[in-house]
Amino acid sequence: MASIFTKIVNGDIPSYKIAEDDNYYAFLDINPLAKGHTLVIPKKEVDYIFDMEDDLYRGLFSFAKGVARAIEKVIPCKRIGLTVIGLEVPHAHIHLIPINSIYDMDFKQPKLKLKSTEFENIAKQIREAFSELQG
Ligand code: 5GP
Repeated sequence: MASIFTKIVNGDIPSYKIAEDDNYYAFLDINPLAKGHTLVIPKKEVDYIFDMEDDLYRGLFSFAKGVARAIEKVIPCKRIGLTVIGLEVPHAHIHLIPINSIYDMDFKQPKLKLKSTEFENIAKQIREAFSELQG
């Protein structure tokens, strides 16, 4: 059965899209730790990130770098934190989270409740920043 993220890539489940290319897709996490919390995934469904084929794995981090640059243009923060967990959704993904302190990466913190208009607005701004940076 297709993972929830494959369904998102295929458009069967909606998402607040940030960026995509032939191999990768980035979208806002629906339960964000911070505004701009983004997931970056390979379109090819692989559960465990370290099972990814080397080139695809390297490309994922390269794609995530461009997305992180776009997020930091839009969301005021000290850095973009990067983490991989993968215990909930069996489809490899990188979390990109705007942070100001180490505690902002704590997944035990309550998640933000954003309205769909807020998600849309954040996604639009990051999407535009991503496009600008790609030239
Ligand atoms: P992990 O597998 O890394 O532990 O967590 C999966 C992440 O995916 C969580 O932060 C969760 O909020 C996010 N997530 C789960 N289902 C969906 C979904 O349907 N849409 C979006 N945008 N994010 C999701």
